[in-house]
Amino acid sequence: MHKVYLRFYEELNDFLPKEKRKIRFEHNYIDRTSVKDMIESLGVPHTEIDLILVNGKSVNFNYLINDGDDISVYPVFESLDISGVQHLRPKPLRSPKFIADVHLGRLTRYLRMTGFDVLYKNNFSDEEIIRISLNEKRAILTRDRGILKRTEVTHGYWLRSTKVKEQLIEVIKRFDLKNEIKEFTRCIECNTKLKKISKSKIINELPPKVAHWHNEFFICPSCRKVYWKGSHYQKMLRLIENVKNDS
Ligand SMILES: [Zn+2]
Repeated sequence: MHKVYLRFYEELNDFLPKEKRKIRFEHNYIDRTSVKDMIESLGVPHTEIDLILVNGKSVNFNYLINDGDDISVYPVFESLDISGVQHLRPKPLRSPKFIADVHLGRLTRYLRMTGFDVLYKNNFSDEEIIRISLNEKRAILTRDRGILKRTEVTHGYWLRSTKVKEQLIEVIKRFDLKNEIKEFTRCIECNTKLKKISKSKIINELPPKVAHWHNEFFICPSCRKVYWKGSHYQKMLRLIENVKNDS
């Protein structure tokens, strides 16, 4: 039996049992493995990790562990600037786009409502999600850690909360999106960008009260859903204010 010492930092502790959180602990192993496999066997998907130090030096995921190694594992943390070390994540995705797993329909709608590009289908398979994520450079949002442990996955995030508003805040924090929020720019139903449309063109489709009180309208060029800044819009603005204050 061989042993190493491990310490996980910040939100990586969310994946560990209580007794292993925020402390350096001893871990025993029989067969020599890569540091990636050892870390994932403890429950932490590699997509959550940006930096691994072994005995004070940065290593990549393929590093083969040695008896007695002292391993520190750091999360993806946008504002952490450690130069001269080997970051494990490929460059952060600019203006991030997402693909959500089948359980995240409500979060998808909230993210689209705040302007973010999110693909979602309630029957996506894991293989499709991974393929689209790689082809279109979309970060995977999921409640399933298994998919994030797949070696080919490069960008992803495991949602901690099951509550949709907390999930929205998590995503905005993790991908540093606070200043990227553009409400009322994307169709909640189908992810297409909205266009302005003049009232005269759609007046026959509007409920009479809406036609009376509103003058500014948007339409989804794809599914033809019409949007206006009614009471749902006021609610959304309040939600966005809360999210900005919380994140
Ligand atoms: Zn649409």
